[in-house]
Amino acid sequence: MTEPNVRVRFAPSPTGYPHVGNIRTALFNWLFARHYGGSFIVRIEDTDQARKVEDALESILDSLRWLGLDWDEGPEVGGDYGPYFQSQRLDTYHSYARRLLDEGHAYLCYCPPERLDEMRVEQARRKEPPRYDRRCRNLSRESRVESPESGGEGDSRAKRLQSEASPERSVSRLVTPVVRLKTPLDGQTRFHDLIRGEIVFENSTLDDFVLLKSDGYPTYHLANIVDDHLMAISHIMRADEWLSSTPRHVLLYQALGWQPPLFAHLPMILGPDKSKLSKRHGATSVTELKDQGYLPEAVLNFLALLGWSLDDHTEILSREELVANFSIERVSKTGAIFNHEKLRWMNGVYLRELRPEAFLQRIMPLLESSLPQEVERPISEEYVRRIVPLIQERIATLNELGAYTDFFFLDALQYDPSLLVGKKMTPQSTLTALNAAREKLSALESFDTDSMEGTLRPLAEEMGLKTGQLFGVLRVAVTGRTAAPPLFQTMVVLGKGKCLRRIEAAITLLYRLDSM
Ligand code: GLU
Repeated sequence: MTEPNVRVRFAPSPTGYPHVGNIRTALFNWLFARHYGGSFIVRIEDTDQARKVEDALESILDSLRWLGLDWDEGPEVGGDYGPYFQSQRLDTYHSYARRLLDEGHAYLCYCPPERLDEMRVEQARRKEPPRYDRRCRNLSRESRVESPESGGEGDSRAKRLQSEASPERSVSRLVTPVVRLKTPLDGQTRFHDLIRGEIVFENSTLDDFVLLKSDGYPTYHLANIVDDHLMAISHIMRADEWLSSTPRHVLLYQALGWQPPLFAHLPMILGPDKSKLSKRHGATSVTELKDQGYLPEAVLNFLALLGWSLDDHTEILSREELVANFSIERVSKTGAIFNHEKLRWMNGVYLRELRPEAFLQRIMPLLESSLPQEVERPISEEYVRRIVPLIQERIATLNELGAYTDFFFLDALQYDPSLLVGKKMTPQSTLTALNAAREKLSALESFDTDSMEGTLRPLAEEMGLKTGQLFGVLRVAVTGRTAAPPLFQTMVVLGKGKCLRRIEAAITLLYRLDSM
Protein backbone atom coordinates (compact mmCIF):
# COMPACT_ATOMS: atom_id res chain seq x y z
CA MET A 1 0.00 0.00 0.00
CA THR A 2 1.42 3.40 -0.85
CA GLU A 3 0.54 6.67 0.78
CA PRO A 4 3.46 8.83 -0.30
CA ASN A 5 3.14 11.31 2.52
CA VAL A 6 3.76 8.93 5.37
CA ARG A 7 6.93 10.03 7.13
CA VAL A 8 7.45 8.88 10.67
CA ARG A 9 10.34 8.99 13.08
CA PHE A 10 11.80 7.28 16.10
CA ALA A 11 13.33 9.95 18.30
CA PRO A 12 15.11 8.39 21.26
CA SER A 13 17.12 10.33 23.82
CA PRO A 14 20.42 8.61 24.63
CA THR A 15 19.83 8.96 28.35
CA GLY A 16 19.83 5.24 29.16
CA TYR A 17 19.64 1.76 27.68
CA PRO A 18 16.54 1.44 25.56
CA HIS A 19 13.60 -0.01 27.39
CA VAL A 20 11.49 -2.47 25.39
CA GLY A 21 8.87 0.29 25.35
CA ASN A 22 11.21 2.54 23.34
CA ILE A 23 11.91 -0.17 20.84
CA ARG A 24 8.21 -1.04 20.63
CA THR A 25 7.68 2.63 19.65
CA ALA A 26 10.39 2.27 17.00
CA LEU A 27 8.78 -0.93 15.72
CA PHE A 28 5.28 0.57 15.42
CA ASN A 29 6.68 3.53 13.50
CA TRP A 30 8.72 1.25 11.27
CA LEU A 31 5.74 -1.05 10.58
CA PHE A 32 3.55 1.95 9.78
CA ALA A 33 6.14 3.38 7.37
CA ARG A 34 6.67 0.04 5.67
CA HIS A 35 2.93 -0.63 5.45
CA TYR A 36 2.34 2.60 3.54
CA GLY A 37 5.60 2.62 1.61
CA GLY A 38 6.59 5.77 3.51
CA SER A 39 9.80 6.80 5.25
CA PHE A 40 11.15 5.87 8.66
CA ILE A 41 13.62 8.29 10.20
CA VAL A 42 15.81 7.89 13.26
CA ARG A 43 16.60 11.09 15.10
CA ILE A 44 18.72 11.11 18.21
CA GLU A 45 17.41 13.70 20.65
CA ASP A 46 20.66 14.40 22.45
CA THR A 47 20.04 17.90 23.71
CA ASP A 48 20.10 17.02 27.38
CA GLN A 49 23.83 17.03 27.86
CA ALA A 50 23.61 16.41 31.60
CA ARG A 51 21.63 13.17 31.24
CA LYS A 52 23.60 11.70 28.35
CA VAL A 53 24.73 8.10 29.00
CA GLU A 54 27.82 6.70 27.29
CA ASP A 55 27.00 3.58 25.21
CA ALA A 56 23.27 4.32 25.24
CA LEU A 57 23.38 5.39 21.62
CA GLU A 58 25.14 2.22 20.52
CA SER A 59 22.71 0.12 22.46
CA ILE A 60 19.74 1.86 20.79
CA LEU A 61 21.18 1.46 17.30
CA ASP A 62 22.21 -2.15 17.99
CA SER A 63 18.68 -2.98 19.08
CA LEU A 64 17.26 -1.48 15.88
CA ARG A 65 19.77 -3.30 13.71
CA TRP A 66 19.28 -6.60 15.52
CA LEU A 67 15.54 -6.41 14.86
CA GLY A 68 16.10 -5.30 11.27
CA LEU A 69 14.41 -1.91 11.73
CA ASP A 70 16.23 -0.07 8.97
CA TRP A 71 15.88 3.65 8.43
CA ASP A 72 15.58 5.49 5.17
CA GLU A 73 17.56 8.68 5.37
CA GLY A 74 20.03 10.68 7.41
CA PRO A 75 23.50 12.17 7.06
CA GLU A 76 25.81 9.88 5.13
CA VAL A 77 28.31 7.93 7.24
CA GLY A 78 30.70 5.58 5.43
CA GLY A 79 28.40 4.98 2.48
CA ASP A 80 25.44 4.37 4.79
CA TYR A 81 22.87 6.56 6.51
CA GLY A 82 23.58 7.60 10.04
CA PRO A 83 20.76 8.85 12.19
CA TYR A 84 20.14 12.58 12.60
CA PHE A 85 21.58 14.12 15.76
CA GLN A 86 19.93 17.15 17.30
CA SER A 87 23.23 18.25 18.84
CA GLN A 88 24.43 18.91 15.29
CA ARG A 89 21.51 21.19 14.51
CA LEU A 90 21.78 23.82 17.25
CA ASP A 91 21.84 26.77 14.83
CA THR A 92 18.51 25.72 13.45
CA TYR A 93 16.88 25.74 16.88
CA HIS A 94 18.49 29.09 17.71
CA SER A 95 17.03 30.64 14.62
CA TYR A 96 13.51 29.54 15.58
CA ALA A 97 13.98 30.70 19.17
CA ARG A 98 14.98 34.07 17.74
CA ARG A 99 11.96 34.11 15.52
CA LEU A 100 9.66 33.41 18.47
CA LEU A 101 11.33 36.21 20.43
CA ASP A 102 11.05 38.61 17.48
CA GLU A 103 7.43 37.87 16.98
CA GLY A 104 6.57 38.31 20.63
CA HIS A 105 5.71 34.65 21.32
CA ALA A 106 8.65 34.11 23.62
CA TYR A 107 10.72 36.07 26.08
CA LEU A 108 14.07 35.95 27.80
CA CYS A 109 13.99 34.86 31.40
CA TYR A 110 16.79 35.84 33.79
CA CYS A 111 15.61 34.08 36.90
CA PRO A 112 18.63 32.28 38.36
CA PRO A 113 18.35 28.57 39.20
CA GLU A 114 18.33 29.33 42.94
CA ARG A 115 15.19 31.41 42.60
CA LEU A 116 13.50 28.69 40.56
CA ASP A 117 14.49 26.09 43.15
CA GLU A 118 13.09 28.18 46.00
CA MET A 119 9.91 28.68 44.03
CA ARG A 120 9.53 24.93 43.49
CA VAL A 121 10.09 24.18 47.16
CA GLU A 122 7.51 26.80 48.11
CA GLN A 123 5.03 25.40 45.56
CA ALA A 124 5.55 21.88 46.83
CA ARG A 125 4.94 23.12 50.38
CA ARG A 126 1.66 24.68 49.26
CA LYS A 127 0.89 21.44 47.39
CA GLU A 128 0.77 23.30 44.07
CA PRO A 129 2.11 21.88 40.81
CA PRO A 130 5.62 23.16 40.02
CA ARG A 131 5.52 25.96 37.48
CA TYR A 132 7.30 29.15 36.58
CA ASP A 133 5.61 32.26 38.00
CA ARG A 134 6.17 34.29 34.81
CA ARG A 135 8.19 36.97 36.60
CA CYS A 136 10.25 37.83 33.49
CA ARG A 137 7.31 37.74 31.08
CA ASN A 138 6.65 41.44 31.26
CA LEU A 139 10.03 42.82 32.32
CA SER A 140 10.75 46.28 31.00
CA ARG A 141 14.18 46.99 29.58
CA GLU A 142 15.10 48.98 32.67
CA SER A 143 14.07 46.38 35.19
CA ARG A 144 15.89 43.75 33.16
CA VAL A 145 19.12 45.75 33.35
CA GLU A 146 18.61 46.52 37.01
CA SER A 147 17.24 43.16 37.95
CA PRO A 148 19.10 42.14 41.12
CA GLU A 149 19.50 38.64 39.73
CA SER A 150 21.11 39.86 36.54
CA GLY A 151 24.55 40.51 37.89
CA GLY A 152 27.77 39.80 36.02
CA GLU A 153 28.62 39.83 32.35
CA GLY A 154 26.29 37.87 30.08
CA ASP A 155 27.81 35.39 27.70
CA SER A 156 28.00 36.20 24.04
CA ARG A 157 25.18 33.85 23.07
CA ALA A 158 22.79 35.55 25.44
CA LYS A 159 23.76 38.97 24.13
CA ARG A 160 23.48 37.80 20.56
CA LEU A 161 20.05 36.33 21.11
CA GLN A 162 18.91 39.47 22.82
CA SER A 163 20.38 41.87 20.31
CA GLU A 164 19.24 39.88 17.33
CA ALA A 165 15.80 39.59 18.81
CA SER A 166 15.60 43.30 19.32
CA PRO A 167 18.79 45.28 18.66
CA GLU A 168 17.78 48.40 20.52
CA ARG A 169 17.29 46.34 23.68
CA SER A 170 20.89 45.24 23.77
CA VAL A 171 22.15 45.32 27.34
CA SER A 172 25.56 44.85 28.76
CA ARG A 173 24.87 43.32 32.16
CA LEU A 174 23.14 39.97 31.88
CA VAL A 175 22.95 36.57 33.44
CA THR A 176 22.67 33.97 30.72
CA PRO A 177 18.96 33.97 30.12
CA VAL A 178 16.74 31.14 28.97
CA VAL A 179 14.03 31.57 26.36
CA ARG A 180 10.48 30.80 27.46
CA LEU A 181 7.28 30.51 25.48
CA LYS A 182 4.47 32.93 26.36
CA THR A 183 1.69 30.45 26.84
CA PRO A 184 -1.89 31.72 26.85
CA LEU A 185 -3.11 32.47 30.37
CA ASP A 186 -6.54 31.00 29.83
CA GLY A 187 -8.57 29.06 27.28
CA GLN A 188 -7.90 25.52 26.16
CA THR A 189 -5.54 23.69 23.86
CA ARG A 190 -7.08 20.75 22.08
CA PHE A 191 -5.93 18.19 19.58
CA HIS A 192 -7.10 14.94 18.11
CA ASP A 193 -5.20 11.76 18.96
CA LEU A 194 -5.63 8.90 16.50
CA ILE A 195 -5.75 6.39 19.35
CA ARG A 196 -7.25 8.32 22.23
CA GLY A 197 -9.59 10.68 20.43
CA GLU A 198 -10.19 14.29 21.39
CA ILE A 199 -7.77 15.61 24.02
CA VAL A 200 -8.30 18.90 25.82
CA PHE A 201 -5.89 20.67 28.19
CA GLU A 202 -6.68 23.80 30.17
CA ASN A 203 -4.05 26.40 29.31
CA SER A 204 -3.99 27.48 32.93
CA THR A 205 -2.23 24.19 33.71
CA LEU A 206 0.65 24.94 31.30
CA ASP A 207 3.37 27.30 32.41
CA ASP A 208 5.74 29.38 30.31
CA PHE A 209 8.05 26.50 29.60
CA VAL A 210 11.67 26.79 28.50
CA LEU A 211 12.56 26.56 24.81
CA LEU A 212 16.25 27.32 24.93
CA LYS A 213 18.37 26.58 27.99
CA SER A 214 21.19 28.71 29.33
CA ASP A 215 23.74 26.20 27.98
CA GLY A 216 22.59 27.05 24.46
CA TYR A 217 20.82 23.73 23.93
CA PRO A 218 17.15 23.65 23.06
CA THR A 219 14.71 21.77 25.27
CA TYR A 220 12.99 18.65 24.02
CA HIS A 221 9.87 20.70 23.19
CA LEU A 222 11.54 23.17 20.86
CA ALA A 223 13.93 20.79 19.12
CA ASN A 224 11.27 18.14 18.72
CA ILE A 225 8.69 20.31 17.02
CA VAL A 226 11.21 22.17 14.85
CA ASP A 227 12.56 18.88 13.57
CA ASP A 228 9.18 17.25 13.12
CA HIS A 229 8.19 20.24 11.01
CA LEU A 230 11.41 20.55 8.99
CA MET A 231 11.58 16.79 8.46
CA ALA A 232 7.97 16.85 7.22
CA ILE A 233 6.84 14.22 9.71
CA SER A 234 3.26 13.18 8.96
CA HIS A 235 2.43 11.11 12.05
CA ILE A 236 3.90 11.19 15.54
CA MET A 237 3.60 7.82 17.20
CA ARG A 238 5.10 7.80 20.67
CA ALA A 239 4.52 6.45 24.15
CA ASP A 240 1.65 8.00 26.03
CA GLU A 241 3.96 9.38 28.70
CA TRP A 242 4.49 12.19 26.17
CA LEU A 243 0.81 13.04 25.98
CA SER A 244 1.17 15.85 28.52
CA SER A 245 3.87 17.45 26.35
CA THR A 246 1.63 17.53 23.32
CA PRO A 247 -0.44 20.65 24.22
CA ARG A 248 2.86 22.52 24.62
CA HIS A 249 3.87 21.34 21.18
CA VAL A 250 0.52 22.35 19.71
CA LEU A 251 1.00 25.86 21.14
CA LEU A 252 4.46 26.02 19.61
CA TYR A 253 3.14 24.92 16.22
CA GLN A 254 0.51 27.65 16.48
CA ALA A 255 3.09 30.27 17.45
CA LEU A 256 5.23 29.37 14.44
CA GLY A 257 2.20 29.19 12.13
CA TRP A 258 2.77 25.53 11.30
CA GLN A 259 0.34 22.67 10.86
CA PRO A 260 1.12 19.96 13.44
CA PRO A 261 1.53 16.32 12.34
CA LEU A 262 -1.11 13.79 13.37
CA PHE A 263 -0.66 12.41 16.89
CA ALA A 264 -0.97 8.82 18.11
CA HIS A 265 0.02 8.03 21.69
CA LEU A 266 0.81 4.37 22.28
CA PRO A 267 -0.39 2.47 25.36
CA MET A 268 1.97 1.91 28.24
CA ILE A 269 3.76 -1.43 28.71
CA LEU A 270 2.94 -3.07 32.04
CA GLY A 271 4.30 -5.97 34.05
CA PRO A 272 2.00 -8.91 34.86
CA ASP A 273 0.99 -7.10 38.07
CA LYS A 274 -0.27 -4.21 35.89
CA SER A 275 2.28 -1.73 37.19
CA LYS A 276 4.62 0.04 34.76
CA LEU A 277 7.14 -2.47 33.40
CA SER A 278 10.38 -2.16 35.33
CA LYS A 279 13.54 -4.05 36.22
CA ARG A 280 11.80 -6.02 38.93
CA HIS A 281 9.69 -7.70 36.23
CA GLY A 282 12.84 -9.13 34.60
CA ALA A 283 14.65 -8.10 31.43
CA THR A 284 13.44 -4.75 30.18
CA SER A 285 15.84 -3.99 27.35
CA VAL A 286 16.14 -5.56 23.95
CA THR A 287 19.86 -6.00 24.53
CA GLU A 288 19.10 -8.17 27.57
CA LEU A 289 16.63 -10.27 25.58
CA LYS A 290 19.29 -10.76 22.92
CA ASP A 291 21.78 -11.83 25.59
CA GLN A 292 19.25 -14.22 27.08
CA GLY A 293 19.12 -16.14 23.82
CA TYR A 294 15.94 -14.88 22.21
CA LEU A 295 15.65 -14.76 18.44
CA PRO A 296 15.12 -11.36 16.82
CA GLU A 297 12.14 -12.60 14.83
CA ALA A 298 10.43 -13.80 18.02
CA VAL A 299 11.14 -10.54 19.84
CA LEU A 300 9.83 -8.58 16.83
CA ASN A 301 6.60 -10.60 16.80
CA PHE A 302 6.24 -10.30 20.57
CA LEU A 303 6.81 -6.52 20.65
CA ALA A 304 4.36 -6.00 17.79
CA LEU A 305 1.64 -7.54 19.96
CA LEU A 306 2.33 -5.20 22.86
CA GLY A 307 -0.55 -2.88 22.16
CA TRP A 308 -1.47 -3.98 18.65
CA SER A 309 -3.32 -7.06 17.44
CA LEU A 310 -4.43 -8.53 14.16
CA ASP A 311 -7.55 -10.08 15.67
CA ASP A 312 -8.47 -11.70 18.94
CA HIS A 313 -6.45 -14.87 18.49
CA THR A 314 -3.51 -14.69 16.05
CA GLU A 315 -0.19 -14.75 17.90
CA ILE A 316 2.43 -15.82 15.39
CA LEU A 317 2.99 -13.22 12.68
CA SER A 318 6.02 -12.93 10.47
CA ARG A 319 7.68 -9.62 9.71
CA GLU A 320 5.95 -9.58 6.29
CA GLU A 321 2.55 -10.31 7.81
CA LEU A 322 3.06 -7.56 10.37
CA VAL A 323 3.97 -5.07 7.65
CA ALA A 324 0.99 -6.11 5.54
CA ASN A 325 -1.50 -5.80 8.40
CA PHE A 326 -0.28 -3.07 10.74
CA SER A 327 -2.72 -0.23 11.32
CA ILE A 328 -3.17 2.48 13.94
CA GLU A 329 -6.86 1.52 14.18
CA ARG A 330 -5.94 -1.73 15.88
CA VAL A 331 -3.64 -0.17 18.47
CA SER A 332 -5.33 -0.46 21.84
CA LYS A 333 -5.93 2.35 24.29
CA THR A 334 -5.23 0.24 27.34
CA GLY A 335 -1.85 -0.82 28.71
CA ALA A 336 -0.16 -3.89 27.21
CA ILE A 337 1.10 -6.64 29.50
CA PHE A 338 4.66 -7.87 28.99
CA ASN A 339 4.55 -11.57 29.72
CA HIS A 340 7.95 -13.30 29.78
CA GLU A 341 6.34 -16.73 29.63
CA LYS A 342 4.59 -15.82 26.41
CA LEU A 343 7.87 -14.57 24.97
CA ARG A 344 9.57 -17.84 25.88
CA TRP A 345 6.78 -19.81 24.28
CA MET A 346 6.93 -17.67 21.16
CA ASN A 347 10.68 -18.03 20.95
CA GLY A 348 10.32 -21.81 21.16
CA VAL A 349 7.85 -21.69 18.27
CA TYR A 350 10.32 -19.71 16.17
CA LEU A 351 13.21 -21.99 17.09
CA ARG A 352 11.27 -25.09 16.07
CA GLU A 353 10.20 -23.45 12.81
CA LEU A 354 13.79 -22.89 11.71
CA ARG A 355 15.02 -25.30 9.09
CA PRO A 356 17.60 -27.61 10.73
CA GLU A 357 20.38 -26.05 8.69
CA ALA A 358 19.35 -22.54 9.74
CA PHE A 359 19.17 -23.69 13.37
CA LEU A 360 22.66 -25.14 12.99
CA GLN A 361 24.02 -21.85 11.65
CA ARG A 362 22.54 -19.96 14.62
CA ILE A 363 23.97 -22.28 17.24
CA MET A 364 27.45 -22.83 15.81
CA PRO A 365 28.84 -19.46 16.95
CA LEU A 366 27.18 -19.87 20.36
CA LEU A 367 28.72 -23.30 20.85
CA GLU A 368 32.11 -21.98 19.79
CA SER A 369 31.90 -19.20 22.35
CA SER A 370 30.15 -20.94 25.21
CA LEU A 371 31.44 -24.51 25.43
CA PRO A 372 34.15 -25.03 28.09
CA GLN A 373 37.74 -24.27 27.13
CA GLU A 374 38.76 -27.93 27.24
CA VAL A 375 36.50 -28.78 24.29
CA GLU A 376 38.57 -28.93 21.15
CA ARG A 377 38.05 -26.13 18.61
CA PRO A 378 36.86 -25.67 15.97
CA ILE A 379 33.67 -27.49 16.85
CA SER A 380 32.80 -29.99 14.14
CA GLU A 381 29.76 -28.91 12.13
CA GLU A 382 29.18 -32.50 11.09
CA TYR A 383 28.93 -33.60 14.70
CA VAL A 384 26.58 -30.70 15.60
CA ARG A 385 24.39 -31.58 12.62
CA ARG A 386 23.73 -34.94 14.32
CA ILE A 387 22.82 -33.24 17.59
CA VAL A 388 20.41 -30.70 16.07
CA PRO A 389 17.41 -33.06 15.74
CA LEU A 390 17.79 -33.98 19.41
CA ILE A 391 17.70 -30.45 20.76
CA GLN A 392 15.82 -28.21 18.34
CA GLU A 393 12.44 -29.34 19.69
CA ARG A 394 13.49 -28.99 23.28
CA ILE A 395 14.97 -25.60 23.88
CA ALA A 396 12.94 -22.42 24.30
CA THR A 397 15.86 -19.99 24.18
CA LEU A 398 19.36 -20.30 22.79
CA ASN A 399 20.73 -19.85 26.30
CA GLU A 400 19.47 -23.31 27.20
CA LEU A 401 21.80 -24.74 24.59
CA GLY A 402 24.62 -25.40 27.05
CA ALA A 403 22.51 -27.54 29.37
CA TYR A 404 21.36 -29.69 26.47
CA THR A 405 24.63 -30.04 24.63
CA ASP A 406 27.77 -29.77 26.77
CA PHE A 407 27.90 -33.54 27.50
CA PHE A 408 28.10 -34.23 23.77
CA PHE A 409 31.45 -32.49 23.69
CA LEU A 410 33.08 -33.05 27.05
CA ASP A 411 35.40 -35.91 27.75
CA ALA A 412 34.80 -36.58 31.42
CA LEU A 413 31.60 -35.47 33.13
CA GLN A 414 31.38 -33.70 36.46
CA TYR A 415 28.20 -34.22 38.41
CA ASP A 416 26.91 -34.95 41.86
CA PRO A 417 27.15 -38.79 42.28
CA SER A 418 23.93 -38.86 44.30
CA LEU A 419 22.08 -37.95 41.08
CA LEU A 420 22.93 -41.44 39.87
CA VAL A 421 20.83 -43.21 42.45
CA GLY A 422 17.56 -44.06 40.73
CA LYS A 423 14.09 -43.24 41.98
CA LYS A 424 13.18 -45.49 44.90
CA MET A 425 16.58 -47.22 44.52
CA THR A 426 19.66 -47.48 46.74
CA PRO A 427 23.29 -46.96 45.70
CA GLN A 428 23.63 -50.73 45.81
CA SER A 429 20.64 -51.54 43.58
CA THR A 430 21.70 -48.74 41.21
CA LEU A 431 25.16 -50.28 41.01
CA THR A 432 23.74 -53.68 40.20
CA ALA A 433 21.49 -52.21 37.50
CA LEU A 434 24.35 -50.23 35.91
CA ASN A 435 26.65 -53.24 35.87
CA ALA A 436 24.01 -55.32 34.16
CA ALA A 437 23.25 -52.58 31.64
CA ARG A 438 26.95 -52.17 30.85
CA GLU A 439 27.24 -55.86 30.10
CA LYS A 440 24.20 -55.84 27.81
CA LEU A 441 25.33 -52.72 25.98
CA SER A 442 28.88 -53.88 25.47
CA ALA A 443 27.56 -57.10 23.96
CA LEU A 444 25.59 -55.19 21.32
CA GLU A 445 27.00 -55.53 17.87
CA SER A 446 25.09 -52.67 16.43
CA PHE A 447 24.82 -49.65 18.71
CA ASP A 448 21.47 -48.33 17.45
CA THR A 449 18.30 -47.27 19.24
CA ASP A 450 16.31 -50.41 18.40
CA SER A 451 19.01 -52.75 19.66
CA MET A 452 19.39 -50.74 22.86
CA GLU A 453 15.68 -50.77 23.50
CA GLY A 454 15.47 -54.45 22.59
CA THR A 455 17.98 -55.38 25.25
CA LEU A 456 17.36 -52.82 28.02
CA ARG A 457 13.57 -53.07 28.32
CA PRO A 458 13.66 -56.80 29.08
CA LEU A 459 16.58 -56.15 31.44
CA ALA A 460 14.51 -53.69 33.47
CA GLU A 461 11.74 -56.23 33.73
CA GLU A 462 14.13 -58.99 34.72
CA MET A 463 15.52 -56.80 37.51
CA GLY A 464 12.10 -55.79 38.74
CA LEU A 465 12.65 -52.16 37.78
CA LYS A 466 10.42 -49.74 35.90
CA THR A 467 11.98 -48.78 32.56
CA GLY A 468 11.93 -45.16 33.79
CA GLN A 469 14.10 -46.13 36.74
CA LEU A 470 16.71 -47.92 34.66
CA PHE A 471 16.74 -45.35 31.88
CA GLY A 472 16.98 -42.54 34.44
CA VAL A 473 20.11 -44.09 35.93
CA LEU A 474 21.64 -44.51 32.47
CA ARG A 475 20.73 -40.96 31.50
CA VAL A 476 22.69 -39.53 34.43
CA ALA A 477 25.60 -41.89 33.75
CA VAL A 478 25.98 -40.89 30.09
CA THR A 479 24.98 -37.20 30.23
CA GLY A 480 25.54 -36.15 33.86
CA ARG A 481 22.04 -34.66 33.83
CA THR A 482 18.60 -35.76 34.88
CA ALA A 483 16.91 -34.01 31.95
CA ALA A 484 18.42 -34.47 28.53
CA PRO A 485 17.41 -35.28 24.95
CA PRO A 486 16.00 -38.79 24.25
CA LEU A 487 18.36 -41.30 25.84
CA PHE A 488 19.01 -43.83 23.09
CA GLN A 489 19.39 -41.24 20.35
CA THR A 490 21.82 -39.37 22.57
CA MET A 491 23.78 -42.56 23.15
CA VAL A 492 23.94 -43.24 19.42
CA VAL A 493 25.48 -39.79 18.84
CA LEU A 494 27.93 -40.26 21.73
CA GLY A 495 28.96 -43.68 20.39
CA LYS A 496 29.47 -47.01 22.12
CA GLY A 497 32.99 -46.37 23.40
CA LYS A 498 32.17 -43.09 25.14
CA CYS A 499 28.92 -44.45 26.61
CA LEU A 500 30.66 -47.49 28.10
CA ARG A 501 33.48 -45.36 29.51
CA ARG A 502 30.94 -43.05 31.16
CA ILE A 503 28.99 -45.97 32.57
CA GLU A 504 32.22 -47.35 34.03
CA ALA A 505 33.03 -43.96 35.55
CA ALA A 506 29.55 -43.91 37.07
CA ILE A 507 30.08 -47.39 38.51
CA THR A 508 33.27 -46.19 40.18
CA LEU A 509 31.43 -43.21 41.63
CA LEU A 510 28.72 -45.49 42.96
CA TYR A 511 31.25 -47.79 44.64
CA ARG A 512 32.62 -44.80 46.47
CA LEU A 513 29.16 -43.58 47.38
CA ASP A 514 28.19 -47.04 48.58
CA SER A 515 31.30 -47.41 50.77
CA MET A 516 30.81 -44.02 52.42
N1 GLU B 1 13.13 12.12 22.86
C1 GLU B 1 11.86 11.61 23.25
C2 GLU B 1 12.09 10.21 23.83
O1 GLU B 1 13.11 9.99 24.35
C3 GLU B 1 10.96 11.58 22.04
C4 GLU B 1 9.50 11.60 22.31
C5 GLU B 1 8.80 11.84 21.00
O2 GLU B 1 8.76 10.89 20.22
O3 GLU B 1 8.38 12.94 20.76
O4 GLU B 1 11.28 9.32 23.78
